[in-house]
Amino acid sequence: MTVKDSIKAEGSALGFSFVGFTTPSQPEHYATYLSWLEAGHHGTMEYLVTEHNRKMRLDPQLILPECKTIVVLAANYPNPLNFTEPAADGLTGKIAAYAWPGVDYHFVIPPLLEKLARSMQIILGKKFAYKCYTDTGPILERDLAQRAGLGWIGKNTCLISPKLGSFLFLAEILIDYSIEPDTPFTADRCGNCTRCIDSCPTHCILPDHTIDASRCISFLTIENKGPIPSTLRHSMENWVFGCDICQMVCPWNHKTKNDLHANLFKQPLSPLMIDLQSEIQLSPTEFNRKYRKSPIKRAKRRGYLRNAAVALGNSRDIKITDGLKQALRKETEPLVRSHLIWALENIRTRPVQETLNVERKDVS
Ligand code: SF4
Ligand code: SF4
Repeated sequence: MTVKDSIKAEGSALGFSFVGFTTPSQPEHYATYLSWLEAGHHGTMEYLVTEHNRKMRLDPQLILPECKTIVVLAANYPNPLNFTEPAADGLTGKIAAYAWPGVDYHFVIPPLLEKLARSMQIILGKKFAYKCYTDTGPILERDLAQRAGLGWIGKNTCLISPKLGSFLFLAEILIDYSIEPDTPFTADRCGNCTRCIDSCPTHCILPDHTIDASRCISFLTIENKGPIPSTLRHSMENWVFGCDICQMVCPWNHKTKNDLHANLFKQPLSPLMIDLQSEIQLSPTEFNRKYRKSPIKRAKRRGYLRNAAVALGNSRDIKITDGLKQALRKETEPLVRSHLIWALENIRTRPVQETLNVERKDVS
């Protein structure tokens, strides 16, 4: 068994589906990244534009000057295509699959990376400096993953592995030790497919394998701290935290859906279904208690309830009006209040035919 095989076996035992190796050289996609920033497609994520942030992404050795190798890891999270979608009534909120386990991967992955780094020191017979990352700092993760041979960056901007699909967490360990790099993945297996572009509800997937984040539901429901633009609210349907549409339509996730991948969370996984009517009533204490360990906490209560209000408004279900009014009476957060008012207005002004249909049903 080679040193690389031993490290891969160790990573696999910890729950990673892929372990690859690359160098800290300049990322191939850096120019694309800069043009994306210059076009303003990063929305309000202004921290991405700082000189410090841009420099770090260009040169991983600014993160760890002694870095000679980057160990790239991937771990599968649940592929929603393996689960039957419950009957949608518009009052159930959808959550991106990476948040289904209920525990934020930022809590789960770093200790595993630390364990792997220590195991590598034993395997390589040397103590060396290292730095672990999982979506925690300025590093072009998908570029590194492609260079380490995992897959390619699809038109939907996700890293797609032909064996694992794209429902993947990525992580890296920068190490002060030279290990022969793996062969980069050079093919673009999207070919003529445009399923993700055709299915994106906000039409934010651009022709150059990038997205206009300011229109993407994942950005709007998680990173965006302000109001949801009124022109995009209807497109959100009942997504209240992230969006998986462009991954769910991808043929590579259909191909790999039944394959057994390691379960990093070591617990049974199933869709997280959200009862929007009770969710909209969550007090700050209840929200913090319920989502203390969940990625949902990132949206904060004000962002999450804003999203829930939009989804409820999109249901156009006249029977929820009293619940919305009750939430509005006790809500003090202006952002949530304005979206609750929009939801009530959206229900009140629904098309006349729809209203008549409900009223007919109610009297029959
Ligand atoms: S996550 Fe949703 S909104 Fe964003 S690009 Fe994909 S399909 Fe479009
Ligand atoms: S849906 Fe098609 S075009 Fe989009 S990422 Fe998947 S393979 Fe590529």
